[in-house]
Amino acid sequence: MIPIAKPSIGSEEKKAVLDVLESGMIAQGAKTKELEDSFADYIGTKYAVATNNGTSALHVALLACGIKEGDEVITTPFSFTATANSILYCGAKPVFSDIDENTFNLDPLKIEDNITNKTKAVLVVHLFGNPCDMDKIKEICNKHNLLLIEDACQAHGAKYKGQMVGSIGDCGVFSLYPTKNMTTGEGGMITTNSPEIEKKCRIIRDHGQDGRDNQTMLGYNYRMTDIQAAIGVEQLKKLEGFIERRIENAELLTEGLKNVKGIITPIIKTDTRHVFNQYTIRVTNDFKITREELIQKLKDMGIGAFVYYPKPIYRQKYYQELGYEEELKNTEKITKEVLSIPVHPGVSKEDIRLIIKQFL
Ligand SMILES: *Cc1c(COP(=O)(O)O)cnc(C)c1O
Repeated sequence: MIPIAKPSIGSEEKKAVLDVLESGMIAQGAKTKELEDSFADYIGTKYAVATNNGTSALHVALLACGIKEGDEVITTPFSFTATANSILYCGAKPVFSDIDENTFNLDPLKIEDNITNKTKAVLVVHLFGNPCDMDKIKEICNKHNLLLIEDACQAHGAKYKGQMVGSIGDCGVFSLYPTKNMTTGEGGMITTNSPEIEKKCRIIRDHGQDGRDNQTMLGYNYRMTDIQAAIGVEQLKKLEGFIERRIENAELLTEGLKNVKGIITPIIKTDTRHVFNQYTIRVTNDFKITREELIQKLKDMGIGAFVYYPKPIYRQKYYQELGYEEELKNTEKITKEVLSIPVHPGVSKEDIRLIIKQFL
Protein backbone atom coordinates (compact mmCIF):
# COMPACT_ATOMS: atom_id res chain seq x y z
CA MET A 1 0.00 0.00 0.00
CA ILE A 2 1.33 3.46 -0.95
CA PRO A 3 -0.77 5.97 1.04
CA ILE A 4 -1.44 9.49 -0.28
CA ALA A 5 0.07 10.97 2.91
CA LYS A 6 2.13 9.67 5.82
CA PRO A 7 3.86 11.57 8.63
CA SER A 8 7.58 10.83 9.12
CA ILE A 9 8.03 10.37 12.87
CA GLY A 10 11.30 9.09 14.35
CA SER A 11 12.95 8.39 17.69
CA GLU A 12 13.76 12.12 18.12
CA GLU A 13 10.07 13.06 18.29
CA LYS A 14 9.33 10.17 20.68
CA LYS A 15 12.11 11.17 23.05
CA ALA A 16 11.12 14.85 22.95
CA VAL A 17 7.52 13.96 23.89
CA LEU A 18 8.65 11.76 26.77
CA ASP A 19 10.90 14.55 28.06
CA VAL A 20 7.94 16.94 28.13
CA LEU A 21 5.70 14.35 29.81
CA GLU A 22 8.32 13.81 32.49
CA SER A 23 8.89 17.54 33.02
CA GLY A 24 5.46 18.02 34.61
CA MET A 25 4.77 21.04 32.33
CA ILE A 26 2.66 19.77 29.46
CA ALA A 27 0.37 22.67 28.50
CA GLN A 28 1.59 25.74 26.58
CA GLY A 29 4.99 26.74 27.97
CA ALA A 30 8.69 26.79 27.18
CA LYS A 31 8.58 24.22 24.35
CA THR A 32 5.86 26.17 22.55
CA LYS A 33 8.02 29.29 22.83
CA GLU A 34 10.99 27.34 21.48
CA LEU A 35 8.95 26.15 18.49
CA GLU A 36 7.66 29.68 17.85
CA ASP A 37 11.17 31.12 17.90
CA SER A 38 12.65 28.50 15.61
CA PHE A 39 9.67 28.69 13.23
CA ALA A 40 9.95 32.50 12.95
CA ASP A 41 13.67 32.04 12.35
CA TYR A 42 13.03 29.50 9.59
CA ILE A 43 10.35 31.56 7.81
CA GLY A 44 12.30 34.78 8.26
CA THR A 45 9.70 36.78 10.18
CA LYS A 46 10.16 38.65 13.44
CA TYR A 47 7.36 36.69 15.14
CA ALA A 48 5.51 33.38 15.15
CA VAL A 49 2.51 32.49 17.31
CA ALA A 50 1.49 28.84 17.78
CA THR A 51 -2.12 27.65 18.03
CA ASN A 52 -3.91 24.32 18.40
CA ASN A 53 -4.60 23.87 14.66
CA GLY A 54 -4.33 25.58 11.29
CA THR A 55 -7.99 26.60 11.20
CA SER A 56 -7.75 28.40 14.56
CA ALA A 57 -4.54 30.04 13.31
CA LEU A 58 -6.48 31.38 10.29
CA HIS A 59 -9.27 32.62 12.57
CA VAL A 60 -6.81 34.34 14.92
CA ALA A 61 -4.85 35.88 12.03
CA LEU A 62 -7.97 37.35 10.43
CA LEU A 63 -9.24 38.74 13.76
CA ALA A 64 -5.81 40.18 14.55
CA CYS A 65 -5.89 41.90 11.14
CA GLY A 66 -9.20 43.49 12.17
CA ILE A 67 -11.53 41.50 9.89
CA LYS A 68 -15.07 41.88 11.23
CA GLU A 69 -18.76 41.72 10.41
CA GLY A 70 -19.66 43.46 7.16
CA ASP A 71 -16.16 43.10 5.67
CA GLU A 72 -15.41 41.19 2.48
CA VAL A 73 -12.31 39.05 2.02
CA ILE A 74 -11.33 37.90 -1.47
CA THR A 75 -10.13 34.30 -1.59
CA THR A 76 -9.94 31.17 -3.75
CA PRO A 77 -12.79 28.68 -4.09
CA PHE A 78 -10.26 25.93 -4.88
CA SER A 79 -8.94 25.08 -1.40
CA PHE A 80 -9.78 23.16 1.74
CA THR A 81 -13.01 24.57 3.13
CA ALA A 82 -11.25 25.85 6.31
CA THR A 83 -9.84 28.76 4.29
CA ALA A 84 -13.28 30.26 3.62
CA ASN A 85 -14.79 29.09 6.93
CA SER A 86 -12.28 31.21 8.85
CA ILE A 87 -13.64 34.30 7.08
CA LEU A 88 -17.19 33.34 8.08
CA TYR A 89 -16.06 32.88 11.73
CA CYS A 90 -15.26 36.62 11.76
CA GLY A 91 -18.74 37.47 10.49
CA ALA A 92 -17.16 38.58 7.21
CA LYS A 93 -18.02 37.44 3.68
CA PRO A 94 -15.72 35.27 1.56
CA VAL A 95 -15.73 36.55 -2.03
CA PHE A 96 -14.50 33.89 -4.42
CA SER A 97 -12.21 34.85 -7.28
CA ASP A 98 -11.25 32.46 -10.10
CA ILE A 99 -7.96 30.54 -10.29
CA ASP A 100 -5.26 30.20 -12.94
CA GLU A 101 -5.69 26.80 -14.58
CA ASN A 102 -1.92 26.24 -14.74
CA THR A 103 -0.96 26.99 -11.13
CA PHE A 104 -4.35 26.25 -9.45
CA ASN A 105 -3.78 29.46 -7.45
CA LEU A 106 -5.74 32.75 -7.50
CA ASP A 107 -5.40 34.48 -10.86
CA PRO A 108 -4.07 37.97 -10.01
CA LEU A 109 -5.75 39.43 -13.09
CA LYS A 110 -9.21 38.51 -11.78
CA ILE A 111 -8.82 39.80 -8.21
CA GLU A 112 -9.50 43.46 -9.02
CA ASP A 113 -12.93 42.67 -10.53
CA ASN A 114 -14.04 41.47 -7.09
CA ILE A 115 -12.97 44.52 -5.08
CA THR A 116 -15.82 46.59 -3.57
CA ASN A 117 -15.86 49.31 -0.92
CA LYS A 118 -16.31 46.52 1.67
CA THR A 119 -13.17 44.59 0.68
CA LYS A 120 -10.63 44.56 3.52
CA ALA A 121 -8.21 41.78 2.63
CA VAL A 122 -7.06 39.16 0.16
CA LEU A 123 -6.54 35.67 1.61
CA VAL A 124 -4.31 33.77 -0.82
CA VAL A 125 -3.63 30.03 -0.61
CA HIS A 126 -0.30 28.60 -1.78
CA LEU A 127 -2.10 25.47 -2.91
CA PHE A 128 -0.34 22.08 -2.76
CA GLY A 129 2.89 23.92 -1.79
CA ASN A 130 3.06 26.08 -4.91
CA PRO A 131 3.63 29.81 -4.22
CA CYS A 132 1.10 32.33 -5.59
CA ASP A 133 2.18 35.13 -7.90
CA MET A 134 2.91 37.40 -4.93
CA ASP A 135 4.40 40.43 -6.74
CA LYS A 136 1.23 41.00 -8.73
CA ILE A 137 -1.08 40.28 -5.79
CA LYS A 138 0.91 42.56 -3.48
CA GLU A 139 0.74 45.34 -6.04
CA ILE A 140 -3.08 45.05 -6.17
CA CYS A 141 -3.31 45.02 -2.35
CA ASN A 142 -1.08 48.08 -2.06
CA LYS A 143 -3.01 49.95 -4.75
CA HIS A 144 -6.37 49.32 -3.02
CA ASN A 145 -5.08 49.47 0.57
CA LEU A 146 -6.00 45.83 1.33
CA LEU A 147 -4.39 43.50 3.85
CA LEU A 148 -2.67 40.46 2.38
CA ILE A 149 -2.91 37.21 4.36
CA GLU A 150 -1.19 34.02 3.22
CA ASP A 151 -2.79 30.63 3.88
CA ALA A 152 0.48 28.70 3.75
CA CYS A 153 -1.05 25.63 5.46
CA GLN A 154 0.31 23.42 2.64
CA ALA A 155 3.46 25.40 1.93
CA HIS A 156 6.04 25.26 4.76
CA GLY A 157 9.37 26.12 3.14
CA ALA A 158 7.95 27.18 -0.24
CA LYS A 159 9.79 30.16 -1.69
CA TYR A 160 8.83 33.00 -3.98
CA LYS A 161 11.80 34.89 -5.44
CA GLY A 162 14.01 33.65 -2.62
CA GLN A 163 11.57 34.63 0.13
CA MET A 164 9.70 32.11 2.25
CA VAL A 165 5.93 32.18 1.85
CA GLY A 166 4.30 33.33 5.08
CA SER A 167 6.76 36.25 5.25
CA ILE A 168 5.51 38.18 2.20
CA GLY A 169 2.02 39.41 3.23
CA ASP A 170 0.89 41.03 6.48
CA CYS A 171 0.80 37.59 8.05
CA GLY A 172 1.12 33.92 7.14
CA VAL A 173 -0.74 30.89 8.47
CA PHE A 174 0.51 27.31 8.69
CA SER A 175 -1.12 24.00 9.64
CA LEU A 176 0.78 21.26 11.44
CA TYR A 177 -1.74 18.50 10.70
CA PRO A 178 -0.20 15.04 9.94
CA THR A 179 -0.77 15.30 6.16
CA LYS A 180 1.23 18.57 5.93
CA ASN A 181 4.97 18.88 5.25
CA MET A 182 5.68 18.87 9.01
CA THR A 183 3.37 17.98 11.88
CA THR A 184 2.62 18.27 15.59
CA GLY A 185 -0.42 15.96 15.42
CA GLU A 186 -2.73 18.96 15.36
CA GLY A 187 -1.25 22.43 15.38
CA GLY A 188 -1.06 25.81 13.72
CA MET A 189 1.26 28.79 13.40
CA ILE A 190 0.91 32.45 12.49
CA THR A 191 3.94 34.35 11.19
CA THR A 192 4.23 38.14 10.97
CA ASN A 193 6.65 41.06 11.11
CA SER A 194 4.08 43.32 12.77
CA PRO A 195 4.39 43.66 16.56
CA GLU A 196 0.73 44.81 16.72
CA ILE A 197 -0.54 41.71 14.90
CA GLU A 198 1.68 39.46 17.00
CA LYS A 199 0.41 40.95 20.25
CA LYS A 200 -3.23 40.65 19.18
CA CYS A 201 -2.70 37.02 18.13
CA ARG A 202 -1.36 36.16 21.59
CA ILE A 203 -4.32 37.87 23.26
CA ILE A 204 -6.96 36.24 21.02
CA ARG A 205 -5.35 32.80 21.49
CA ASP A 206 -5.76 33.12 25.26
CA HIS A 207 -9.40 34.15 25.91
CA GLY A 208 -8.76 37.77 24.94
CA GLN A 209 -6.53 38.26 27.96
CA ASP A 210 -3.68 40.75 27.80
CA GLY A 211 -1.73 39.11 30.59
CA ARG A 212 -3.28 37.19 33.46
CA ASP A 213 -6.77 38.24 34.61
CA ASN A 214 -6.91 41.22 32.24
CA GLN A 215 -9.44 40.45 29.54
CA THR A 216 -9.57 43.26 27.00
CA MET A 217 -11.55 41.60 24.20
CA LEU A 218 -13.39 38.40 23.31
CA GLY A 219 -10.89 35.66 22.62
CA TYR A 220 -10.69 31.89 22.53
CA ASN A 221 -8.70 29.01 23.98
CA TYR A 222 -6.64 28.15 20.92
CA ARG A 223 -3.42 27.32 22.77
CA MET A 224 -0.92 24.68 21.67
CA THR A 225 0.46 22.19 24.22
CA ASP A 226 4.15 21.60 24.90
CA ILE A 227 3.57 17.94 23.93
CA GLN A 228 2.68 19.11 20.41
CA ALA A 229 5.45 21.71 20.37
CA ALA A 230 8.07 19.08 21.31
CA ILE A 231 7.13 17.10 18.19
CA GLY A 232 7.22 20.30 16.14
CA VAL A 233 10.71 21.32 17.26
CA GLU A 234 12.09 17.98 16.02
CA GLN A 235 10.02 18.04 12.82
CA LEU A 236 11.24 21.53 11.94
CA LYS A 237 14.86 20.32 12.16
CA LYS A 238 13.99 17.68 9.56
CA LEU A 239 11.79 19.85 7.33
CA GLU A 240 14.42 20.76 4.71
CA GLY A 241 15.23 17.05 4.34
CA PHE A 242 11.52 16.21 3.94
CA ILE A 243 11.18 18.92 1.28
CA GLU A 244 14.20 17.62 -0.66
CA ARG A 245 12.63 14.15 -0.75
CA ARG A 246 9.30 15.56 -1.94
CA ILE A 247 10.97 17.57 -4.70
CA GLU A 248 13.05 14.53 -5.78
CA ASN A 249 9.92 12.37 -5.93
CA ALA A 250 8.04 15.06 -7.84
CA GLU A 251 10.85 15.26 -10.41
CA LEU A 252 10.77 11.49 -10.93
CA LEU A 253 6.99 11.50 -11.31
CA THR A 254 7.14 14.35 -13.84
CA GLU A 255 9.92 12.59 -15.77
CA GLY A 256 7.73 9.50 -16.07
CA LEU A 257 4.41 11.22 -16.78
CA LYS A 258 5.24 14.32 -18.81
CA ASN A 259 4.90 12.58 -22.20
CA VAL A 260 1.76 10.60 -21.36
CA LYS A 261 -1.03 11.76 -23.69
CA GLY A 262 -3.82 13.51 -21.78
CA ILE A 263 -1.86 14.00 -18.54
CA ILE A 264 -0.66 17.49 -17.54
CA THR A 265 2.08 17.44 -14.89
CA PRO A 266 2.51 20.25 -12.30
CA ILE A 267 3.78 23.56 -13.65
CA ILE A 268 6.53 25.23 -11.65
CA LYS A 269 7.13 28.93 -12.28
CA THR A 270 10.72 30.15 -12.47
CA ASP A 271 12.14 31.64 -9.29
CA THR A 272 9.80 29.68 -7.00
CA ARG A 273 10.30 26.62 -4.81
CA HIS A 274 7.22 24.37 -4.97
CA VAL A 275 7.38 22.08 -1.90
CA PHE A 276 4.87 19.49 -3.16
CA ASN A 277 2.60 18.93 -0.21
CA GLN A 278 0.61 17.30 -3.00
CA TYR A 279 1.72 16.20 -6.45
CA THR A 280 -1.35 17.06 -8.51
CA ILE A 281 -1.79 16.23 -12.17
CA ARG A 282 -4.62 17.02 -14.57
CA VAL A 283 -6.35 14.08 -16.24
CA THR A 284 -7.84 15.55 -19.43
CA ASN A 285 -10.28 14.07 -21.96
CA ASP A 286 -7.31 13.05 -24.13
CA PHE A 287 -6.24 10.42 -21.57
CA LYS A 288 -7.26 6.87 -22.49
CA ILE A 289 -9.55 6.34 -19.48
CA THR A 290 -11.57 8.68 -17.25
CA ARG A 291 -10.19 10.14 -14.01
CA GLU A 292 -12.58 7.96 -11.99
CA GLU A 293 -11.43 4.81 -13.84
CA LEU A 294 -7.80 5.81 -13.25
CA ILE A 295 -8.43 6.28 -9.50
CA GLN A 296 -9.95 2.79 -9.35
CA LYS A 297 -7.02 1.31 -11.27
CA LEU A 298 -4.52 2.94 -8.88
CA LYS A 299 -6.54 1.81 -5.84
CA ASP A 300 -6.57 -1.78 -7.13
CA MET A 301 -2.75 -1.61 -7.14
CA GLY A 302 -2.69 -0.27 -3.57
CA ILE A 303 -1.85 3.29 -4.63
CA GLY A 304 -3.67 6.06 -2.76
CA ALA A 305 -4.93 8.62 -5.28
CA PHE A 306 -7.30 11.40 -4.22
CA VAL A 307 -9.10 14.35 -5.73
CA TYR A 308 -8.19 17.54 -3.88
CA TYR A 309 -10.71 19.11 -4.35
CA PRO A 310 -13.71 17.58 -6.13
CA LYS A 311 -15.84 20.71 -5.80
CA PRO A 312 -15.32 24.44 -5.40
CA ILE A 313 -16.05 25.69 -1.87
CA TYR A 314 -19.03 27.69 -3.19
CA ARG A 315 -20.63 24.37 -4.25
CA GLN A 316 -20.55 22.94 -0.71
CA LYS A 317 -24.12 22.50 0.54
CA TYR A 318 -23.63 25.00 3.35
CA TYR A 319 -22.32 27.69 1.00
CA GLN A 320 -25.19 27.04 -1.40
CA GLU A 321 -27.54 27.66 1.53
CA LEU A 322 -25.73 30.93 2.19
CA GLY A 323 -26.70 31.92 -1.35
CA TYR A 324 -23.49 31.42 -3.31
CA GLU A 325 -24.32 30.90 -6.99
CA GLU A 326 -20.89 31.35 -8.57
CA GLU A 327 -19.71 29.30 -11.48
CA LEU A 328 -16.10 30.29 -12.03
CA LYS A 329 -14.79 28.93 -15.31
CA ASN A 330 -11.29 27.69 -14.45
CA THR A 331 -12.31 26.43 -11.01
CA GLU A 332 -15.17 24.40 -12.53
CA LYS A 333 -12.84 22.90 -15.13
CA ILE A 334 -9.96 22.12 -12.78
CA THR A 335 -12.09 20.41 -10.10
CA LYS A 336 -13.11 17.91 -12.81
CA GLU A 337 -9.52 17.20 -13.92
CA VAL A 338 -7.20 17.19 -10.87
CA LEU A 339 -5.79 14.09 -9.23
CA SER A 340 -3.18 13.90 -6.46
CA ILE A 341 -0.81 10.93 -6.28
CA PRO A 342 1.71 9.96 -3.54
CA VAL A 343 4.83 12.19 -3.30
CA HIS A 344 5.63 12.24 0.46
CA PRO A 345 9.09 11.36 1.85
CA GLY A 346 8.00 7.77 2.52
CA VAL A 347 7.48 7.08 -1.22
CA SER A 348 10.40 5.07 -2.66
CA LYS A 349 11.83 5.01 -6.19
CA GLU A 350 10.29 1.57 -6.60
CA ASP A 351 6.89 2.96 -5.54
CA ILE A 352 7.27 5.68 -8.16
CA ARG A 353 8.02 3.13 -10.89
CA LEU A 354 4.85 1.24 -9.91
CA ILE A 355 2.79 4.45 -9.96
CA ILE A 356 4.07 5.52 -13.39
CA LYS A 357 3.43 2.04 -14.83
CA GLN A 358 -0.30 2.46 -14.23
CA PHE A 359 -0.41 5.37 -16.68
CA LEU A 360 1.37 3.63 -19.57
C1 LIG B 1 -4.96 21.93 6.28
C2 LIG B 1 -5.44 23.24 5.79
C3 LIG B 1 -6.10 24.15 6.62
C4 LIG B 1 -6.56 23.83 8.02
O1 LIG B 1 -5.60 23.35 8.85
P1 LIG B 1 -5.99 22.37 10.08
O2 LIG B 1 -4.72 22.27 10.84
O3 LIG B 1 -6.44 21.09 9.49
O4 LIG B 1 -7.06 23.04 10.86
C5 LIG B 1 -6.42 25.39 6.09
N1 LIG B 1 -6.13 25.72 4.83
C6 LIG B 1 -5.52 24.85 3.99
C7 LIG B 1 -5.20 25.28 2.60
C8 LIG B 1 -5.17 23.59 4.44
O5 LIG B 1 -4.59 22.72 3.60
